[in-house]
Amino acid sequence: LPVSGDSIRRRFLQFYASRGHKVLPSASLVPEDPTVLLTIAGMLQFKPVFLGKVPRLVPCAVTSQRCIRTNDVENVGRTARHHTFFEMLGNFSFGDYFKKEAIKWAWELTTIEFGLPANRLWISIYEEDDEAFAIWHDEVGVPVDRIKRMGEDDNFWTSGITGPCGPCSEIYYDFQPEKGYSDVDLGDDTRFMEFYNLVFMQYNKRDDGSLEPLKQKNIDTGLGLERMARILQKVPNNYETDLIYPIIQKASELANVTYDTADNQSKTNLKIIGDHMRAVVYLISDGVVPSNIGRGYVVRRLIRRVVRTGRLLGIKGDGIGNIDRAFTPLIAEKVIALSNHIDEDVKGRAGRILEELKREELRFVQTLERGEKLLEEMLADALASAKEGGRIPCLAGKDAFLLYDTYGFPVEITTEVAQERGVVVDMEGFDIEMDNQRRQSQAAHNVVKLEVGEGADIMETISDTEFLGYDTLSAKAIVES
Ligand code: ATP
Ligand code: MG
Ligand code: MG
Ligand code: MG
Repeated sequence: LPVSGDSIRRRFLQFYASRGHKVLPSASLVPEDPTVLLTIAGMLQFKPVFLGKVPRLVPCAVTSQRCIRTNDVENVGRTARHHTFFEMLGNFSFGDYFKKEAIKWAWELTTIEFGLPANRLWISIYEEDDEAFAIWHDEVGVPVDRIKRMGEDDNFWTSGITGPCGPCSEIYYDFQPEKGYSDVDLGDDTRFMEFYNLVFMQYNKRDDGSLEPLKQKNIDTGLGLERMARILQKVPNNYETDLIYPIIQKASELANVTYDTADNQSKTNLKIIGDHMRAVVYLISDGVVPSNIGRGYVVRRLIRRVVRTGRLLGIKGDGIGNIDRAFTPLIAEKVIALSNHIDEDVKGRAGRILEELKREELRFVQTLERGEKLLEEMLADALASAKEGGRIPCLAGKDAFLLYDTYGFPVEITTEVAQERGVVVDMEGFDIEMDNQRRQSQAAHNVVKLEVGEGADIMETISDTEFLGYDTLSAKAIVES
């Protein structure tokens, strides 16, 4: 029987606990640091300790941290390895052990505890980090051609524009060793998957970009639980692991499709639902409610994406015959049923989570339906005027954008329905409107300052004003919050 996700988590914690690490609970998805939007990595709760602002309570710790990365939202379902919600297993040293122990333990964990064959593992190091090279090569015994030196983008981890940072070293799994050793690019994700990142956190990046050595050298690591589960359970992607697949199955049931025999687009849609439903359940559980600002806007966008995606899959109403009911609570029940070892508080909050989802979904469906009506009118107009002028019927880009922006109407649905009626959509015009909107909204959304991790990307995602129009006809929500 393949190893369960739960047992991988438990064994990771146990491995480091028996090497002197204190097992600490996951922090909330809403960080204590008010300047940070969401918890994107295990290190976040320890940031003040790394910076020396707060004394360490223990020399080293191990956690399984629930994380949200909205910068990966577009990757969900498209790559085999990215989620918006995932668990990051991490071991941390607060001025205790450093590079040598971190590397040796990571190798022991990977090859002995989890039993991955050494010849399937590749290492990346920061280009200037000869010390890491020596440890991997001379002490651990990884052959030279399986250690890749990489630049700052890949192998110098910064927790944000400023803050603790340092060179890092990552372990990759090779799914296609038969391809050999020459011309290898670790970025080729059909062949490789990064799963463990070891950050040698020894600097503080200042406002001016300069690096100030920290008083003590720290270790910050992250191993993606779903990624390790994918490897050990020998499934083609993270979504088919026992951590997520039951949620996908529930969604398939409601959509009346079979995952295994579904086409690729439907599979991707099911993965999106499987992913986003986890994100929204844990976010709501941690106290984030749908709104038009900051974290609330993240939840709102994710719920709406689930609802739209569900409709693309043909889920009507609650999917079991009640046209005026919501389906997201039914899938959320599955997420909650799987939550025990991820966050034991979720079960007790189930009522509120389901209620919040139901309300948000039903409200959004109303908006969508109003949009559908409007689309029918627009198409009728387009057909009529084309007939008069003897032209090809065309839906203006600004109309498609209005549907998208104000009614949360995915442009793919607009084009699909239009096509059925023999109307083409002016996508160039749509893109222009979209760009304008993006630029305008940038300022309005700079309310949440982000310092941590891929901040720029998160900001971009947040300020993507899908749906903003309808709910903030007055823009009041933004100003008030
Ligand atoms: P990738 O290059 O695959 O996007 P990353 O370099 O951005 O990953 P890190 O910031 O190094 O990831 O995070 C540490 C570990 O957390 C990764 O090695 C991976 O196992 C896991 N991880 C990161 N992002 C995700 C995600 N979106 N979904 C699932 N696991 C993730
Ligand atoms: Mg990434
Ligand atoms: Mg990476
Ligand atoms: Mg990485």
